[in-house]
Amino acid sequence: MKKIKYYYNTHTLRYEKLVTPLRVKLLRVFGFISAALVSSALIIWAYNSFFPRAIDKETALKYEAIKDNYNTLAAKTKTLQQQMAELEKRDNDVYRSIFEANPLSDSARTKAIEKRKEIAKLNLKSDDELGKEIAKTLDNITSRIAFQFQSYDAIAKLIKNQEAKLASIPAIQPVSNKQLDRIASGFGMRIHPIYGIAKMHPGLDFTAPQGTPIYATGDGMVTAAGSGTGTGNYVLINHGYGYETKYLHMVRIKATAGKSVKRGEVIGWVGSTGASTGPHCHYEVHINGNPVDPVYFFFNDLNAEQYDRVLKIAATGSAKSFD
Ligand SMILES: [Zn+2]
Repeated sequence: MKKIKYYYNTHTLRYEKLVTPLRVKLLRVFGFISAALVSSALIIWAYNSFFPRAIDKETALKYEAIKDNYNTLAAKTKTLQQQMAELEKRDNDVYRSIFEANPLSDSARTKAIEKRKEIAKLNLKSDDELGKEIAKTLDNITSRIAFQFQSYDAIAKLIKNQEAKLASIPAIQPVSNKQLDRIASGFGMRIHPIYGIAKMHPGLDFTAPQGTPIYATGDGMVTAAGSGTGTGNYVLINHGYGYETKYLHMVRIKATAGKSVKRGEVIGWVGSTGASTGPHCHYEVHINGNPVDPVYFFFNDLNAEQYDRVLKIAATGSAKSFD
């Protein structure tokens, strides 16, 4: 039941019925609806912020964990990238220069990476930017590692070659010389003991009793083993890399022409055949056909102090030369 309201009219001096105009009525209804809408929106918002649904919480946690993982991965790939750069630097600065190979240019490395990028593009379908970034970095590292492997393979080959070279280069004395008292005549100009004239002595004379073993001073191939008027019984070894050694005045030859020999292998025995004044081994080292002082090739069987003494002995020589 609707209540009827009255009011006192001062003009008519009577109580009259109060009539609410339609405009006011409509405004009141509209105000009520608006207030109801605003408050329900507020209630829903408050509910959602204070009581998030269980599934949202779980998703949020999962997302946080994934983000954490990504960040860890990103940090790890960055470290890998730095280490890779360090390896590339060492490859260029150290290994390649040791083995006298040309450093690899950055463009060569980049080219290899670009080639792989094309392939990698097809595999990148994820929408996740962070994931894409990591995948890209990892792919870059993978390419660089593959390229680096090739470089190290090439270096390994150079090392093998270097080992063969080190085994071939003459590096010991041709006769046992523990007391360092067997070098009689050094390399260079001196008066020839038989002809009595100034003559170039292209090798070192090692005095030793007849029959003392003579060793090949490096790995190589015996290119000649025979007899000559001046040389007496001699052996010539080609070591490759431009190196040759000669051993003269042997009492007897053991080496055979055309056969390979190893460093330290007995190739003959000390004698005094040919133009010689007493039992000794005349030893020569040639590089690209030119005789060089053999004293610089004894680094394998002498320590620093002994080597120093040998250098002095070879420089002064003894009074006697044997040729
Ligand atoms: Zn000599």
